[in-house]
Amino acid sequence: MGLTNSSIGTNAIDSGLEIKKKNKSDKVIALAGNPNVGKSTVFNGLTGMNQHTGNWPGKTVTNAQGYCQTKNQSYVMVDIPGTYSLMAHSAEEEVARNFICFGNPDAVIVVCDATCLERNLNLVLQTMEISRKVIVCINLMDEAKRKNITINLERLSQILGVPVVSTVARKKKSLDTLMRTLDRTIIKEDKTNLYKIKYSEEIETAISMIEPVVNEISEKKLNSRWLSLKLLDKDPSLIKEINSYFGEEFLHNKKLTEATEKAEEYLKENNITADTLNDNIVSSVVKACEEIASSTIRYQSEKYNAFDRRMDKILTGRLMGYPVMIIMLALIFWITISGANYPSEALSNILFYFQDRLTDFFNYMNAPQWLHGAVVLGIYRVLAWVVSVMLPPMAIFFPLFTLLEDAGYLPRIAYNLDKTFKKCCACGKQSLTMCMGFGCNAAGVVGCRIIDSPRERLLAILTNNFVPCNGRFPTLITIITMFFVGSAGGISTLISASILTCIIVFGIFVTFMTTKLLSKTLLKGTPSSFTLELPPYRKPQIGKVIVRSIFDRTLFVLARAASVAAPAGLVIWILANVDINGITLLTYCTDFLDPFARLMGLDGVILVAFILGFPANEIVLPIIIMAYTAQGTLVDMDSVMQMKELFVANGWTWMTAVSVMLFSLMHWPCSTTVLTIKKETGSIKWTLLSVALPTVIGIVCCIIFNFVAGIFI
Ligand code: GDP
Repeated sequence: MGLTNSSIGTNAIDSGLEIKKKNKSDKVIALAGNPNVGKSTVFNGLTGMNQHTGNWPGKTVTNAQGYCQTKNQSYVMVDIPGTYSLMAHSAEEEVARNFICFGNPDAVIVVCDATCLERNLNLVLQTMEISRKVIVCINLMDEAKRKNITINLERLSQILGVPVVSTVARKKKSLDTLMRTLDRTIIKEDKTNLYKIKYSEEIETAISMIEPVVNEISEKKLNSRWLSLKLLDKDPSLIKEINSYFGEEFLHNKKLTEATEKAEEYLKENNITADTLNDNIVSSVVKACEEIASSTIRYQSEKYNAFDRRMDKILTGRLMGYPVMIIMLALIFWITISGANYPSEALSNILFYFQDRLTDFFNYMNAPQWLHGAVVLGIYRVLAWVVSVMLPPMAIFFPLFTLLEDAGYLPRIAYNLDKTFKKCCACGKQSLTMCMGFGCNAAGVVGCRIIDSPRERLLAILTNNFVPCNGRFPTLITIITMFFVGSAGGISTLISASILTCIIVFGIFVTFMTTKLLSKTLLKGTPSSFTLELPPYRKPQIGKVIVRSIFDRTLFVLARAASVAAPAGLVIWILANVDINGITLLTYCTDFLDPFARLMGLDGVILVAFILGFPANEIVLPIIIMAYTAQGTLVDMDSVMQMKELFVANGWTWMTAVSVMLFSLMHWPCSTTVLTIKKETGSIKWTLLSVALPTVIGIVCCIIFNFVAGIFI
């Protein structure tokens, strides 16, 4: 199985050049910035949209568009991926650079982090080399103030020759000045007194040898000084873009090739080779940033990030990093399990009350039995079950998880796990995608776009399913409660949470092993180095987090689950009610699969339930109950213990329970995730592998477990 760009879906990364204007007169504004500077918050504040915000770098990998309007002008805002530079080493950088260079924005707003402005100036200066209309937006001013950092905005604006605006993006009001400045900038003539990075004398001379020719033949479509420098630099990905922007003949222009060759010759004579040129350019940019920063930024206290360092010592320390991570995981599960019980029960009572009313209505209308069965006992009952079982834990789990994300803990997890992933020849960012998988594996798979290396991205996609999503949590929790905790009172949720944590840790262990196996076989390669910036700890916006995670995540996942659960309910009802020679279709299927399922410590009914649960994992348990009670409809079990009695009567032991949990953790991904994998990889082969891999591993684990446990019992 070869690994090609198209097969692993680099196309998934939007080149982002297609802009949809509402009116012809709309101005296109690019929002650029380093990762995690509040760019998406600015974007959302201006456009009223809800781009995902989170306190970790690399979460935006595509261009998002939104609209906003002032009294004078309407704008299309384009939120481009966060990047540290435009020298395109990663997919995000390429998307950002291509949009600024070739997307023809009318202006670029570079959002900067006031607490580390010097590093952010790098992108500002590089953007100013390309675009003439730049506005510098210095965000996170509240944090800078707290850390006693002062920035002389006026002086900065004077030096750069562009407007500089300060904002606190979390407060929408503070964006007004930005919009006013944008209005003014957009109608002004292009500035000519912009700050220019001064390169070494030799490079400046080389540029001046090419620039007049570039000026002549490029028809001033791009900044000629920048283009000349890039022609000397010969960045292959940029050369490709220049070719498609100007046409192949541009770079073959005789005058231009002659001038470039001459300039290269000159540089060589002055001991600047292709290798040293790039270093030379970078160090000039860094030096310029240092100079500007030293005359505009004042740090009043050296200890401005002492708190962050102390926290990092605990959360990412060698001794404490892993234990804290596991405790945090267990804590989230504990809150989720203990908090979800009562609302789940209440919701179930309400929804099943409505089911009875629906039945009354069907009876009143003299509707045929089959119609009542299919609609009420099939579609409605599965839906009601899925909603009452899934909604409460999700409504608790997602906000908790988002709070950790907003506070800045997620990148620390990636940092902690990076070494282990490196040992498996993968990338630490994979742990971030696993975190997303906890909510929904489909979301986790899309999240893999934050990984630059195609090989490592594919590793992360193929193994994402080993983290159980929200659809599988209810199954795991119910089985744990039935067979390992019982109704042990208050302490039971604590034990449940601990067992669930062990299962998740086992899933993570399998992820490591599978990643290693794949990177030694099908996906060979060395791990790429990646710089993961540890963002500052931030006080999460609790209210906003709760609202957003309920709307963006909880209801989204629920709607998806419900949309597949409804038709699945119908199919299940038909299978359980249509019979041939007095035996239902469901029984035929379960009898057929029974011998194989027994090998895995399951039975035919359980295996069929997993297969029918392909559209949504949350309906596995209801199908098992339905088949055991042979009622032809899903049954509402009043208590977990009643459910246990039914299962035990059908031959379940603690070994069956463990096998079901193992198989729930490791089997094919749900239909939505499979579709997403196909979309992201663009390849049927990799999609099939992503289905086969967890399934085979799950079957093998179950068989081994039953064999070993059988010896001891
Ligand atoms: P992006 O990666 O640049 O798009 O950054 P986001 O918009 O996702 O913001 C990163 C984090 O910074 C989020 O937790 C935001 O709520 C937070 N944030 C954004 N702007 C501000 C600000 O001005 N002040 C404070 N204190 N936090 C901010």
